[in-house]
Amino acid sequence: MSEASAATLLHPETRVTHVGRDAKLSNGLVNIPPYRGSTVLFDKVEQLKNSSGHRAYGRWGTPTGRALESALAQLEGGANAMLTPSGLSAITTALLASVKPGDHILMVDSVYPPVRNFCATVLKKMNVGVTYYPPLVGAGIAELIQPNTTVVYTESPGSGTFEVQDIPAICAAAHAAGARVLMDNTWGTALLFPALQHGVDLSIHSLTKYVVGHSDALLGVIVARTRELYLDVRAFHGALGLTVSPDDAFLGLRGLRTLAVRLRQHQENALQVAQWLREQPQVREVLYPALPGAPGHALWKRDFHGASGLFGVVLRPASEAAVTAMLDGMQLFKMGFSWGGFESLVIPVKPGSYRLGGPIAADEVGLRIHVGLEHPEDLIADLGAGLQRLSAHPG
Ligand SMILES: *Cc1c(COP(=O)(O)O)cnc(C)c1O
Repeated sequence: MSEASAATLLHPETRVTHVGRDAKLSNGLVNIPPYRGSTVLFDKVEQLKNSSGHRAYGRWGTPTGRALESALAQLEGGANAMLTPSGLSAITTALLASVKPGDHILMVDSVYPPVRNFCATVLKKMNVGVTYYPPLVGAGIAELIQPNTTVVYTESPGSGTFEVQDIPAICAAAHAAGARVLMDNTWGTALLFPALQHGVDLSIHSLTKYVVGHSDALLGVIVARTRELYLDVRAFHGALGLTVSPDDAFLGLRGLRTLAVRLRQHQENALQVAQWLREQPQVREVLYPALPGAPGHALWKRDFHGASGLFGVVLRPASEAAVTAMLDGMQLFKMGFSWGGFESLVIPVKPGSYRLGGPIAADEVGLRIHVGLEHPEDLIADLGAGLQRLSAHPG
């Protein structure tokens, strides 16, 4: 079966099993190995002259990396994809490739916080104007577009607060004004949110999260909707000299094979944990679009094929010491700045302190919870004991 038919006609479980495989490249083995190499050798001057850039030198990629790029592009229905050393470098590369001095971009207020830092430092130095807009703006984005707006940047659901954006409406307005739409699609992955079909031009992922899936490599990707967009961004990527190790690309391919089945279990576990959390007296609100009645549920149901295991919890007023008592004693939920691996994680967040607005007020504490592949009953018991410590704390 050709790769194209594997990518478009079959179910997600089947597609992730078959995309990007090549018996010739792998010498008959199931998996393409990590191809290590910098130098590509040529026997004849004529071959050297005719070598196309991307197969002429290791910096332009390895067969392992190209297999992962091809797999991810096919899964999302894009023209092509390019790997980057991290999710953040995928975002910054896509942004830098899309702006020039004097341009203006619209940045979603619920963006992954390190991107705010990039805007305040690198884009500011480049004289690119940045306006933050509320994630739920929808078609109203049209009124914020200026004559020099070249990029509308989206992330859905939002980091820490999980607002679901009306991506089709935003794309329609941006394209009518000639602006490019970038989306951080890490939460949904290629399987749960068809970003490019909804009109997104560059779908960006931290593969570090669910694709690698085992918390053992950093990796990012930019998937381009059209060949023109791909060539434009790829030229910039090449000019910067970004490379990805074949070992990390191999881990990405390995993780991809089980992505569909892992995501299904993450969602099932997360729904149980989120439902239970919603009923606890210490919890004001659960921010999980997959939960019926939660903010963004209707849009999520309209546009997504499922949910991953990351969501937010807004606590009722509690002292910092009480939240610390809860988190310090957790047995299964450890604290860490990532997510998407097999293990459960929790981290306190205070988006109200730097956001324009959103569902977590400046004086409120949120918890960002990643529900892993443990049994949900064990996770609920761990959280239950934690909430008891929170309530019992004197301060
Ligand atoms: C983690 C994360 C990133 C950055 O990914 P890295 O691989 O850690 O650089 C980008 N976007 C979102 C939504 C993330 O959660």
